[in-house]
Amino acid sequence: MRGRGDRLEAALAERGLDRMLVTDLVNVRYLTGFTGTNGAVVCGPGIRVFLTDFRYTERAAAEVSEWETVTVTGDWLGGIAERLAGKVGFEDDHVSVRSLAKLEEKLPEGAEAVAAGGAVEALRRVKDAEELAAIAEASKLADAALKATVEEGFVGKTERAVADAFEGHVRAGGGTLSFDTIVASGSNGAQPHAEPGPKVIGRDELVVFDMGAKLDGYCSDGTRTYATGDPGEEGRRVYDTVLAAQQASLEAIRPGEKGEDVDAAARKVIEEAGHGEHFGHGLGHGVGLDIHESPRLSLRSDDILAANEVVTVEPGIYLAGNLGVRIEDLVIVTDTGLRNLSTLPKELTVVD
Ligand code: ZN
Ligand code: ZN
Repeated sequence: MRGRGDRLEAALAERGLDRMLVTDLVNVRYLTGFTGTNGAVVCGPGIRVFLTDFRYTERAAAEVSEWETVTVTGDWLGGIAERLAGKVGFEDDHVSVRSLAKLEEKLPEGAEAVAAGGAVEALRRVKDAEELAAIAEASKLADAALKATVEEGFVGKTERAVADAFEGHVRAGGGTLSFDTIVASGSNGAQPHAEPGPKVIGRDELVVFDMGAKLDGYCSDGTRTYATGDPGEEGRRVYDTVLAAQQASLEAIRPGEKGEDVDAAARKVIEEAGHGEHFGHGLGHGVGLDIHESPRLSLRSDDILAANEVVTVEPGIYLAGNLGVRIEDLVIVTDTGLRNLSTLPKELTVVD
């Protein structure tokens, strides 16, 4: 968490703010290291205050350094408000209208709440070495869990059972899931966000497996599409198209590149294959403490890539009522291109 308060303070100066009140728990964790369920941060020139309640005093002592820890007894909002002054940025993308009204009632004379959503999220885009190592570990665990699940076979099992097997491997490796696993076979694969259900996986189907692990708070995200036998000519053609599209976008990734241009590289390949309307989502997203964060790689994303950002590259083609293919890698943007964290093979693999 070293220096993160300083980076936030610099961002406040740029926005003309005197203080920032951070209440989103993921952002609080990012700044302070605190992993409990009630905490807030007040940051400003010379001010580094972390507030929690009596349940977390001990945890805060163990986890939080570089921030003065205050245990608020009684009036939580009052305890926060008395540390605010001047133009106070608050996280309007996380604070409800009702909570804001209550806070405003308690603000000291002369203090004013100003919408400053996204301030901490912007800092979170570029990862430090520790964060990159945590994400790489999470990705390694998830890939190992998927490899073990694949070796146990799909055919004759329900999608749910296969998803549960994956989760078991992740937990055995000391992690948790970074999101609900997607195992979508046959025509279910045509829904990008299919939930694994009671459908039994048959032979000669394509199976979309989208999965991630969480370790030390950091997420991973990856997708492979497998064949349980022969997926047919159309299935193979779609698979090859998605793979070529992904390759095109991977080659486009480097610092300074715009999110929409990286997206366009894959989209062009898919459009040329006649499947433009079957790729209905963005190419990728940032990954960190949250499974979906900035930057975005999508049709109209102005985000400009920078070194040490972590993004997914996940083109897909979805043919309703028929099949779906998605291939997703998790990559770190480097000074010259990328480092791919996803290790599992991408040639179409047949699973029993
Ligand atoms: Zn995914
Ligand atoms: Zn993803």
